[in-house]
Amino acid sequence: MVAYKGVSCARCGHPLEGAYYDGCPACKKKGFNVNYETKYDCSGMKLPPISDKDEGIYRFKDFFSLPENAPHVSIGEGNTPLHRLDRIGKKLGLNNLYMKDESKNPTMSHKDRMCSLIISKALADKAPGVVISSTGNQGASTSAYCSVAGLPCVIFTTPNVSPSMKTWMQAFGAFVFVTPTMEDRGIIMEKLVQEMGYAPASGLIDPPIGSSCFAVDGYKTISFEVFEQLGGKAPDWFIIPISYGDTLYGISKGMHDLEDMGYISKLPKLVAAEVFHSCENNLSAGNEIPVEQPSKASIQTSIATGKVTFQTVRAVRECGGLASTSNDDEALAMQQELAQTEGVFAEVSSCASLVVLKKLVAEKKIALDEKVVVLITSTGIKTPDVTQLYVPEIPIIKPTIEDYKRAMAESYHHPL
Ligand SMILES: [Zn+2]
Repeated sequence: MVAYKGVSCARCGHPLEGAYYDGCPACKKKGFNVNYETKYDCSGMKLPPISDKDEGIYRFKDFFSLPENAPHVSIGEGNTPLHRLDRIGKKLGLNNLYMKDESKNPTMSHKDRMCSLIISKALADKAPGVVISSTGNQGASTSAYCSVAGLPCVIFTTPNVSPSMKTWMQAFGAFVFVTPTMEDRGIIMEKLVQEMGYAPASGLIDPPIGSSCFAVDGYKTISFEVFEQLGGKAPDWFIIPISYGDTLYGISKGMHDLEDMGYISKLPKLVAAEVFHSCENNLSAGNEIPVEQPSKASIQTSIATGKVTFQTVRAVRECGGLASTSNDDEALAMQQELAQTEGVFAEVSSCASLVVLKKLVAEKKIALDEKVVVLITSTGIKTPDVTQLYVPEIPIIKPTIEDYKRAMAESYHHPL
């Protein structure tokens, strides 16, 4: 049984007739850029057995929109752990705090769930290659899946991307180019799509309307897994770091599927953790179409934008969720705390979810017994230059106890 029921505009319901990545022509006439979304009817369906776990996200293929004969380009994405964060939870007074650790995916980020579907669909559509505009995680993931599929991968990035992220993207064989501005990336990317038939692995339009609606469905599997890992329950709160918000929106779609199947009776409150109030201000202003918020450079590169999609704001609004911010100092301090109390070295952008959690607890918006899941989207090992901002320089010592004690005191300020 397949739940997929076609594609229509997320705002006005206009059915898909052309390419999904151009946005809805009916809305565009009114000056709005809005993406299409996939529609599903999951009533009467059941989640597949957990015993089929080896299939990764494709265990949930009946909840995707891939054609039946589409290949499954997989390198072991999904099935990431859900840990209890007992030490941070205790400090905050929370009794049920969990972390969904997406850094355990093949290219160490949640993007693998989406990119696997993008490349599977590109093969099914017989695209000659894949093109993406990326600051790191999604580029690396697209490149890895293209290597398995045998498709060329072209990545447009910006000059300020960290050297490790550039290496990470190139390691899988992608052709990486830098353009002077963010806007230039979209312009050249669109040419490859329109003139060369390449499949886009990220959005083309500015203001952004989100990634391919077919592929965002990969994030539904985060919701399905969390539901299973919590013993057949949804969390009360799910805090998610967002850029334009594909991840939060995909998770929301998964929660809707669970509700339609009768597994849960109410949606968890989804919280957007961001840097520049993009979701927060659009929510509070009640904007039908999001308005860009002011932004500047940030070390939280994966989420540092003033833009957010229509679907993301709607998803937060409809579940009674919230949005709040994380500044660079807070995110860095949280990266250190998470690594040094829970043993998880997360990408600094990912730590926004825990920064926002702390704020919501301090504001008494989260009750202490409520079940809270924070999403960690990627690993800190991808951006060591950021962590080096706070770790001390490693001292060189002579092999004597005296020199060891001197260096311990000078470099680490430790009494031993
Ligand atoms: Zn529309």
